[in-house]
Amino acid sequence: MSITMFISCTNDSADNEAVNEEVAAELRALGFNTDDLIATTMRGEEGYLVERDIFLTDEDIANLAPRRSVDNGNEVNTEHYRTNNIVSTPRVLNIYFDDGFTRSDVQAAFDEALDRFNALNLDLTFQRANAPGADIDILAERLGRVRGNIILGQSAGFPDAAGNPATPIILNSAVYNPRRGGVPADVVTVIAHEIGHAIGFRHTDFFDRSFSCGQGGDEGDAGVGAIFIPGTPAGPENGSWMLACSSGTDRPFTSGDQTALTTVY
Ligand SMILES: [Zn+2]
Repeated sequence: MSITMFISCTNDSADNEAVNEEVAAELRALGFNTDDLIATTMRGEEGYLVERDIFLTDEDIANLAPRRSVDNGNEVNTEHYRTNNIVSTPRVLNIYFDDGFTRSDVQAAFDEALDRFNALNLDLTFQRANAPGADIDILAERLGRVRGNIILGQSAGFPDAAGNPATPIILNSAVYNPRRGGVPADVVTVIAHEIGHAIGFRHTDFFDRSFSCGQGGDEGDAGVGAIFIPGTPAGPENGSWMLACSSGTDRPFTSGDQTALTTVY
């Protein structure tokens, strides 16, 4: 069974706008899957929600160039990919986790996500910041529905050309700071996943979301705009933290994930 990581149901409604084909074609040329593409806003800024949890403005899309080829042109890939820009190293990344997440188990999940990165001894050190305005802010917000779907997390895209991570990340506090009951089991993975985008990792299955999402097609002609990370698995790998969707369970870094992280950083 496959439950989407970032969307928890699939009702129909039309509170977001269709995207013009020109923008969609540009995103496809950059290697994004545009099946779920919508025009929306994030904290008042206009842009597009891509692959369900990546928010990009027109400027972000322009900045994702120059375009680079993937390794082999295969149509279906579940390998690891990074964006052209990555965070400059060595660097300590201060990351703020909103105190609007009032539950101690959710705050502990954030610390656990940072610990997972730090356990790999990367050239990036992940450190909790005490106030917003950090290198990456993870903000609590009760996210509205997008086409009737509940969005669990949203990243502000990818690192900029100056080597800074993307910020902020929005985490749906209606889901991850529940007033009663347990916190979803995938909370550490979702936090690590959104940080993954902020430091330059693409969805490992962006060519074929059906691998993790159970639906969604093979993009076929997409083939540029994502750089293959050498040494990562060439075949499907269940459990990667950068799959577009998951079983809703906790997924510590796989060996392929670890290779991807240690190769880039
Ligand atoms: Zn994602």
